Amino acid sequence: MEKKDIEKQAYIFALENAIRHDGRASKGSIIGKLIAMDSSVKAMLKKIQPILDKTVKKVNGLGEQEQHDELKKLDEKRYNSIFEKQEKGMPELPNAEKGKVTTRIPPEPSKYPHVGHALSFLLNYIYAKKYEGKAILRFEDTNPQKSSKEYVDAVHEGLEYIGIKPDKTIFASDDMEKFYKYAEQLIKQEKAYVCFCDKEKVRKLRNEGKVCKCREKSSIKEWKDMLKGKYKEGECTLRLKGDMESNNFVMRDPIIFRIIDYPHYRQKQRYKVWPMYDFENSIEDSITGITHILRSNEFGNMRIELQNYIKELLGLKKQTIVQYGRFNITGAISQGREIREMIEKGEVSGWDDPQLVTLKALKRKGIVKETFWEIAKQVGLSKTPTNLDWSLINSVNRKILDDKAPRYFFIKKPVKIKIEGAEERTIELGKHPTKDLGKRVFKVGSEFIIEEEDYKQLQDGKIYRLMDCLNFKKQKNKLIFYSLSYKEFPKGALIMHWLPESKDNLKTTILMDDGSEIEGIAESHLKELKEGDIVQFQRFGFCRLDSEEKMYFIFSHK
Ligand SMILES: [Zn+2]
Repeated sequence: MEKKDIEKQAYIFALENAIRHDGRASKGSIIGKLIAMDSSVKAMLKKIQPILDKTVKKVNGLGEQEQHDELKKLDEKRYNSIFEKQEKGMPELPNAEKGKVTTRIPPEPSKYPHVGHALSFLLNYIYAKKYEGKAILRFEDTNPQKSSKEYVDAVHEGLEYIGIKPDKTIFASDDMEKFYKYAEQLIKQEKAYVCFCDKEKVRKLRNEGKVCKCREKSSIKEWKDMLKGKYKEGECTLRLKGDMESNNFVMRDPIIFRIIDYPHYRQKQRYKVWPMYDFENSIEDSITGITHILRSNEFGNMRIELQNYIKELLGLKKQTIVQYGRFNITGAISQGREIREMIEKGEVSGWDDPQLVTLKALKRKGIVKETFWEIAKQVGLSKTPTNLDWSLINSVNRKILDDKAPRYFFIKKPVKIKIEGAEERTIELGKHPTKDLGKRVFKVGSEFIIEEEDYKQLQDGKIYRLMDCLNFKKQKNKLIFYSLSYKEFPKGALIMHWLPESKDNLKTTILMDDGSEIEGIAESHLKELKEGDIVQFQRFGFCRLDSEEKMYFIFSHK
């Protein structure tokens, strides 16, 4: 190989290696691949070292997305091959044995869970079950200003909807005494100190990598005073002794406890000193026997370093961490804060507005639980980001509903027609063309109702069909009965859905995904339905019955 080719090939191998290993390429693996490709490289190793060092440095300096884009551009086949293997089913977890896997489902009860949360909950749940282990639901409720009962209930409701049955439920705020005990242990080990610097000063010193005086002076007494309520909110914090010069910013003496004088929805006024997330998390994962943590790679290795450090100091057990690509929700607002604003402005009707991707909204819209399981299995532990958008959710949901949803007729802009020569009779239509979902019986005569859109297309001299009913011809502006059988029907001509002219037809309203409502009429058989049933209105789409009383449906998708 020429030097120029080596440079190019090394860059490609480094990109691939980095994508496969959390964004970090290693020189060794690139050398191995180059030699495997051309053994003459062996003799040049010394000479090409600077090239390799430069290449590794360059690749490791790229962002995750840039690494993906670069390799895709240079060698798409190689790029795609990375994911073919990963996405086939759900790979085995490292360090996993049957019956000895415990995962956790860790919502913060500060928002309504959405489709992204559902998938991460499911991955943890599916893997626990795969190894006949346990999945623990843990509410991360140690921020009294954010947590509330409303959201705890929303999580329970959401889990029930997607079919997750946790083996145990824990509230982190029930373990406050344990957090305090571990904090005391750290102070006694001289690994934590009460810091009286204000927020600004702490920020400045952390930026500069300098310690404050509190670090050396602090004693257990100040901590005890803090717990007793001697200090007010903002007056002091408990900080971990990390490394003020670390390149990993979170290791620079992070705050692990702060004072929040705010009643907790569950603990009421019992506590005023609350642990920060990384401290609480490290302790909970260890004391509840979690063996595997499956989480999105946006969490970041920096915080893992901090959590591992806390566990090491306290002699707590570490977990196996498996990171997968983040979920990007596109085409829908998922941020709780933004949704709250939209509700206040009246742009959406509430947390269950079908334009949203909260679980509450998806349930109401007719997205079935199997859809979440299917997407979770498709995504698996893939390292690439997954775009969760309506087209993915809808297409998976459609595939599942196609065989399960009974079919009915709904007409949005009704036009009454008379087909001369059509005789009175009773016809029986299946609710599904291939599955046995029951029958609908219609009494028909010569008067029917069809869509205005279809009516406008009728042309003189042509033959049309009322779906599974009869053929008719338009002649001199009249509609005339032609035949019953589908056999005499010209290929490709318009087949329309219809209703018999009848006082039993039902006024029906459908809420569309842009928030508008469509009114129309539907067949009387809809009376058999109950709230929550999902149907397919033929030539219209799938809809879920939201209110029996009002015959009010919500549009799911085409
Ligand atoms: Zn200080």
